[in-house]
Amino acid sequence: MGKEQTIVAKFGGSSLADAGQFRKVKEILCQNPARRYVVPSAPGKRSRDDVKVTDLLYTCYEKASRGEEYRTVLKKIQSRYQEIIDELKLSVSLDDEFEMMEQAFLNRAGEKYAASRGEYLNGILLADFLGYEFVDSAEVVRFDRNGNFESERTNFFLSDRLINIERAVIPGFYGADDAGNIHTFSRGGSDVTGALVARAVCADLYENWTDVSGFLLTDPSIVDHPKKIDTMTYSELRELSYRGATVLHEEAVFPVRREGISIHIRNTNRPTEKGTLICSSIAPEDEVPITGIAGKQNFVAISIAKNRMNAQVGFCKRLLEAFEENHIAFEHMPSGIDTICVILPRDVYLEKKEAVMASLERLLAPDKISVDEDMALVTVVGKGMRSVSGIAARFFTALGNASVNIKMIDMGSNEINCTVGVSNKDFETAIRALYYALAA
Ligand code: ADP
Ligand code: ASP
Ligand code: MG
Repeated sequence: MGKEQTIVAKFGGSSLADAGQFRKVKEILCQNPARRYVVPSAPGKRSRDDVKVTDLLYTCYEKASRGEEYRTVLKKIQSRYQEIIDELKLSVSLDDEFEMMEQAFLNRAGEKYAASRGEYLNGILLADFLGYEFVDSAEVVRFDRNGNFESERTNFFLSDRLINIERAVIPGFYGADDAGNIHTFSRGGSDVTGALVARAVCADLYENWTDVSGFLLTDPSIVDHPKKIDTMTYSELRELSYRGATVLHEEAVFPVRREGISIHIRNTNRPTEKGTLICSSIAPEDEVPITGIAGKQNFVAISIAKNRMNAQVGFCKRLLEAFEENHIAFEHMPSGIDTICVILPRDVYLEKKEAVMASLERLLAPDKISVDEDMALVTVVGKGMRSVSGIAARFFTALGNASVNIKMIDMGSNEINCTVGVSNKDFETAIRALYYALAA
């Protein structure tokens, strides 16, 4: 007999938003006994205008720590969990947990601690409902004192703990440092926890269950019913999620890619649909020119002009130094002969504007610095793009026909992406134009 299969299944917020969703999750798990390790998010939205528990927790903590009235929000959070307990007739009670949590809020335990309780409490309920062991991520997902994630220690702690547990629920999104302080990943980070667990147990597959039937060619809130992507590679996933496709957290790819564990994105509400499979390579016959289109708004472009910049040895080094000394990582750096442009997120720029300008003046003595504060970046990703002629012509014609003014072009050196900078107001128009011209 072959080795028993192990699947790690991560369920997102809307997949666990209420008791009905909990039942769907149980059914999915019962259908395949290989689904042994489950990573839940906090309860998400039950309808379009509902509020995620994580957002309620941030609000509640902010109010409590400012000495404002917070009990109304706390009660709302408590009732989200109590409804699940009552409807599923669970025997657990979260009363003590809520008492402890309230005390911790009043003692200013920090917003990360507050946010993490969404996954923690949902994990307790899900473990009870499934009859799986509950493993608190604070004990196994490790951060240093400054909140930097420690991947190798986490892998050691997680695998050491899970090796002897047949079936477990490990809540997503958070971990702790050695002093016991809670830290979280960035928003959407339960995807990362799922990938870490998959690596730690050497899973055969990492299933990511959500509310769409796979990775779609573009954001369904911008294009109506975009086509689904059947298969894609880790590098295409990395490009698309980094560039703004929020269905999977951009950091989730690393732990599974290094072990060659495939990711399968599936829909909790339509479990019979095939979803999207992400692996190291795909068959040449499955390659399509365009894998997907993603984008993000609110960037700035800082243009530095200096005559004969191209002939100055070390100019780029000093430019990079100006950003490095302000601890800024940037997105793109398109250049001409006497100008070079650095693109970075607008919030980062606004926070460090004066310091960056001072560094640029001191290190580069430029002729002129100009800043465009209105830029959105739209990226088309596709491994097959390099082998099909005429794509670039269709790309630019589509934007021209839609009257979208292109402010910047960056063709990735790996030839699997092409990014354009456009005005924020043209963001959705550009995505729609590119989708219909290249992918529909
Ligand atoms: P979960 O709570 O399950 O983690 P998320 O809300 O984080 O789910 O991600 C799923 C959502 O991502 C979808 O409902 C969809 O609105 C959005 N989304 C954005 N871009 C894409 C895309 N390219 N393909 C699929 N979904 C996308
Ligand atoms: N609950 C967290 C969030 O809303 C993490 C997650 O859902 O993955 O961001
Ligand atoms: Mg998510």
